[in-house]
Amino acid sequence: MPVGSTTHSRDLNYKGGMTKQYFALPVVRGKRSSFPTRALCPVCKRRKVLEPHTMVLLSGGACLRVKGSSSAGPDEHMTAFLDIRSHTAHNSGVGRRDKGDGWVRIAEDVRGGQFDIAFCSPRCLRQFLGSCVDELERQMALDRARQRAKSIKPSKK
Ligand SMILES: [Zn+2]
Repeated sequence: MPVGSTTHSRDLNYKGGMTKQYFALPVVRGKRSSFPTRALCPVCKRRKVLEPHTMVLLSGGACLRVKGSSSAGPDEHMTAFLDIRSHTAHNSGVGRRDKGDGWVRIAEDVRGGQFDIAFCSPRCLRQFLGSCVDELERQMALDRARQRAKSIKPSKK
């Protein structure tokens, strides 16, 4: 389970582009293996995507190999995920401990093990990924604030 998973269903507000963008993460989950559901780019909301239109896809997942064969494909026994994470050094680990942990789930428990996220252009894909990294940085900042709050102990009088 992602750290602070309740934040994953929140809308993201991407401030890096020309307009505000909103995505509820994860964008694919369970039986829903493609995003968007409407044939409109989820970022610019101006150009058509999905068949038969031109599109740029962020695709992920795995194929189950058929035993004794060189073929493989999607399978109902598999579920797919796509995360971006920040992992700080713990205990005797090497590296800075003040960066904060964060975990953003873009795809979760996608049945069959494969998914597609469609955009009209590389520019809109970049904006989507940027919004996911923005969410990761927001979670890292929240984790740092939590760590600071834990280290400040109330004085006893
Ligand atoms: Zn677009």
